[in-house]
Amino acid sequence: MDFFNYKNGELYCEDVPAARIAREVGTPAYVYSKATLLRHYRQVADAFKPIDATICYSVKSCGNINLLKVLADEGCSFDVTSGGELFRSIQAGGDPKKMIYAGVGKTDAEIIDALNVGIAAFNIESEAEIENIDRVAASIGKTAIGALRINPDVDAKTHAKTTTGRKGNKFGVDIDRAEAVFEKYRHLKHLRIAGLHLHIGSPVYEIQPYVDAVMKAQALIDRLTALGHKIEWLDLGGGFAVNYRNPTQALPVTEHAKALLPLLKDKPYKIALEPGRYIVGNAGILLTQVLYRKSSGSRQFVIVDAGMNDLIRPTLYDAYHFVWPAQPRPDDVLETRDEDRKPADGEVVDVVGPICESGDYLAKDRLLPRTARGDLLAVFTAGAYGFAMSSNYNNRPRAPEVLVNGSSYRIIRRRETYEDLVALER
Ligand SMILES: *Cc1c(COP(=O)(O)O)cnc(C)c1O
Repeated sequence: MDFFNYKNGELYCEDVPAARIAREVGTPAYVYSKATLLRHYRQVADAFKPIDATICYSVKSCGNINLLKVLADEGCSFDVTSGGELFRSIQAGGDPKKMIYAGVGKTDAEIIDALNVGIAAFNIESEAEIENIDRVAASIGKTAIGALRINPDVDAKTHAKTTTGRKGNKFGVDIDRAEAVFEKYRHLKHLRIAGLHLHIGSPVYEIQPYVDAVMKAQALIDRLTALGHKIEWLDLGGGFAVNYRNPTQALPVTEHAKALLPLLKDKPYKIALEPGRYIVGNAGILLTQVLYRKSSGSRQFVIVDAGMNDLIRPTLYDAYHFVWPAQPRPDDVLETRDEDRKPADGEVVDVVGPICESGDYLAKDRLLPRTARGDLLAVFTAGAYGFAMSSNYNNRPRAPEVLVNGSSYRIIRRRETYEDLVALER
């Protein structure tokens, strides 16, 4: 559930009409709902409260410092994947001592920065990285703490580009090699490996892959414990799915918790989670305006002012985003967002952007209410991996980000200017 609803015949974000934001801020624009962000964060935190899990929001999914601040104020920790995300999270007021640092290719400079600000732990992806973190920590006289990322070899049943926990992926250490790795690096002087980490993919629509991964990880912890290793925490990563197509497509996090809590309670180690999409996915939309219409062969195109540089998920992941006019004709006012919703006066179109690529589309073969130049469209569930993956391709200034709170809104990132585009080249 989110706070993007049709009221008085038009789309509102909380108590602000989307059309008002489009008029005042321009399009394309990302619009976030503070109430939705908080709602989903609290859902996760409450669901796993019985085991006192640490929730580390995945900053890579949507990292605006104003959103991070909202989450930090709620007590949320952060999962960062680069020096830039670490910097951003600290700028937002996050406590580095609660941050987890992940990523398969950490540079020495990034490792030093992370050690100097005193992050909680590194999630470590390989033996080469173990040796390097130990060496880098020694060079500055510090001791690092880390969790070994294991590859549990489970099928998260998600897109090939976002499945990460199968044998042959670049992530983690194969689970059957984990004991040997713990044994080999038992006595490092400047790195203490005290946790286990896994992340099976994203978005994950099923419970069973998590259950399988947890059971495999726990069997491993038992074997490690028997060898005299003390495992202090198990980090289950992120990946919980959200509703892109209809209101019941994804399981509420409470369902995941129901299956996982019995496995995780009363253990001598802490549990951490790294959700990104679940917290921010439904908390953001992309507003875009219709520029032109045209046809080619039998295809109808609606050309809008947002493109793959603004939202790359459709073309990168074959992702589905629900699209609908913000001010539809009365029969097409929405009660629920459902991919099967038939418009009163509809047509099948491709919603495409202005970029010089055939892959530049937001929706394909989509039955939508008939639209005309100037109409405002909302692309829903765009909060996660939306702005975060946007670029300046075709020299398009990136869209602004707007945060709605009740009946007011604030620009939390201004629209880039042409001068911004060339500033670093002068
Ligand atoms: C991307 C990622 C996450 C967040 O995934 P979501 O689907 O946004 O919850 C968490 N952990 C790791 C290691 C990741 O790579």
